[in-house]
Amino acid sequence: MCIHRVPRGRSVAVPRSRCPRCHGEISWYDNIPVLSWCWLGGKCRHCKEKISVRYPLVELLMAALFLSVHFLSSDSSHLVFGLILTFVLVVISIVDLDWRIIPDIFSLGLLGVGIVLSPMNEGLGDNGPARALASVVGAGVGFGSAWIMATIGRRVFKREALGGGDVKLLAGVGAILGWSGVLTSWFLGSVLGSVVFIGLKFRRKMDWGTYLPFGPFLAAGAWAHWAWPSFFLKWWGLAGGP
Ligand SMILES: [Zn+2]
Repeated sequence: MCIHRVPRGRSVAVPRSRCPRCHGEISWYDNIPVLSWCWLGGKCRHCKEKISVRYPLVELLMAALFLSVHFLSSDSSHLVFGLILTFVLVVISIVDLDWRIIPDIFSLGLLGVGIVLSPMNEGLGDNGPARALASVVGAGVGFGSAWIMATIGRRVFKREALGGGDVKLLAGVGAILGWSGVLTSWFLGSVLGSVVFIGLKFRRKMDWGTYLPFGPFLAAGAWAHWAWPSFFLKWWGLAGGP
């Protein structure tokens, strides 16, 4: 619902969900993730308009990732920040793929929540002040590095290679994961992005000039850092700390 409504500038709280074709209200029992889509046979109850298979697929993806977060988290702090991060990253990725934008409410929301809740973010340090500092530094590194890359991109490619939405997303990632999370996000995002870009090019699905949204790849990198923090901290030569 957030993926559909937010880019269209509509409220997520009201009104109730309606069918986009017949505008019939969707009752709560027809709005149960995955199950409703199945027992309605992928069609609106009123007008029989087909409901995109994307809805249950996104719901299944979210459920699978939340389940992974449950099993991968090492303590309650890790779990809470994992759930926040997962929800925001999935929504951002799909909206970026569809609309080529990252709404501020999600990127700046992640930044705000990351900084405000940072004293509870045990992955960022041993005590409240240290965690708050690591969160602000991480946000700064995310914002600064992405801003520099965006500026270089504009000079070199003469067009928007990295959007303002990516800059704010990396600031949010840094606020939750610290500056090492920004590094992982950059590194894995670039590797994954290049592989997919070359793959699409190889299958002649895309011209070299075509824009590939970077947000989903940065998001995947950030998520991997959340999932295996000790692995990536060791990778970046950091024993403990963010
Ligand atoms: Zn309908």
